[in-house]
Amino acid sequence: MTDIGNEVSHSLFISDLHLCASRPAIIKAFINFLQNTASKAERLYILGDLFEYWAGDDDIDHADHAEIIHALKLLSESGTKLFFIHGNRDFLINDQFSKAANIKILPDPSEINLYGKRVLISHGDNLCTDDKDYQAFRKQVRMATWQAEFLSHPLNARKSQIESLRLQSEHAKSNKSQKIMDVNNEAVFAMMRQHQYPQIFIHGHTHRPNNHRMIIDEHLCQRIVLGDWYEHGSCIRLDETGLYNQFITI
Ligand code: MN
Repeated sequence: MTDIGNEVSHSLFISDLHLCASRPAIIKAFINFLQNTASKAERLYILGDLFEYWAGDDDIDHADHAEIIHALKLLSESGTKLFFIHGNRDFLINDQFSKAANIKILPDPSEINLYGKRVLISHGDNLCTDDKDYQAFRKQVRMATWQAEFLSHPLNARKSQIESLRLQSEHAKSNKSQKIMDVNNEAVFAMMRQHQYPQIFIHGHTHRPNNHRMIIDEHLCQRIVLGDWYEHGSCIRLDETGLYNQFITI
């Protein structure tokens, strides 16, 4: 591991930025974060919902996206390794985006080894198993056949369809209880068991930042929930001495 600018080697984790043209301050804060904070990190992990929505990789040239992709590429060229896990908003991010931004797409969940610790990372929407309607929708839209059919439509038509789906989803969410939209504990335990009890599990999606310490089958695990980027940015730093919260002013 290399020391960058006399800093201790560390990795950063973020999610749920929901970048979109209607919130230019967040885009500015994110680019500033890439240039001044993430540039000092060894690795940056973006755990989904980087964008408010992603209609397909043929949208990478759009001015709003090009600026962000360029900033990611510059960061990777400066030496920070970039990784991405799909969120429920940007699961259509694919190879073209990955190449343009020089960011590696990882499966959800992924197990990584950092600073002597086993860390599991995920977006987290697959843990919300109490929301049966959402899980059925997720299963459908993650199928290659569904995606190929959707992507065969013109970009503008896809964007309009996503806009109308978002309205329906906002309406559905207002009728769902907070508990249904949170992670299901059994689903968390099952995932931790499947991955032989990683010491740290980091995910986003629920917008309920927290550090849950738990004992599963006599193994001590920490489940870190990342915060969203609305009032301020939220980032978790991991180095050999532990985990730290970093707030990013917007
Ligand atoms: Mn999400």
